[in-house]
Amino acid sequence: MGITQDQVVSIHYTLRDEAGEVLDRSAAGEPLVYLHGRGALIAGLERELTGKSTGDRLRVKLAPADGYGDYDRQLVQRVPRRTLRGVGELQVGMRLHAQTAQGTRVVTVTQLSGDMVTLDANHPLAGKSLDFEVEVADVRAATEEELSHGHVHGPGGHHHH
Ligand SMILES: [Zn+2]
Repeated sequence: MGITQDQVVSIHYTLRDEAGEVLDRSAAGEPLVYLHGRGALIAGLERELTGKSTGDRLRVKLAPADGYGDYDRQLVQRVPRRTLRGVGELQVGMRLHAQTAQGTRVVTVTQLSGDMVTLDANHPLAGKSLDFEVEVADVRAATEEELSHGHVHGPGGHHHH
């Protein structure tokens, strides 16, 4: 069965950058499970998965613009530490929810210098070329409930209590 809109797809994947360094991967024995065609994965990857079947392996290389976007220097700001009270001890690499002119965004602390903190609202993978190695582990039809919720239930998916 080839992958089409609204099927539940399980994939094993490894994501590397241009230099071959591993940025992310699915855990051993725990594939990523998602509802195809709903924007759960970045568009370029879903496009390449369309039509593939269980057992297929593929390599997908995406330029930054087709991945998490180009790096935008305008999204980097320096703020005084005192504006970040209540977040505990600041460390480089920490991710925080911050109020910005564009609303609440996830920002990464990229530098601590004296009383100033540098916050970067770019996605951590912005500006990077992405190199995915993917193996399709399973393809099945979605249930009515999954379709109405817009996400996958069961192993690898959402659990409602
Ligand atoms: Zn649900």
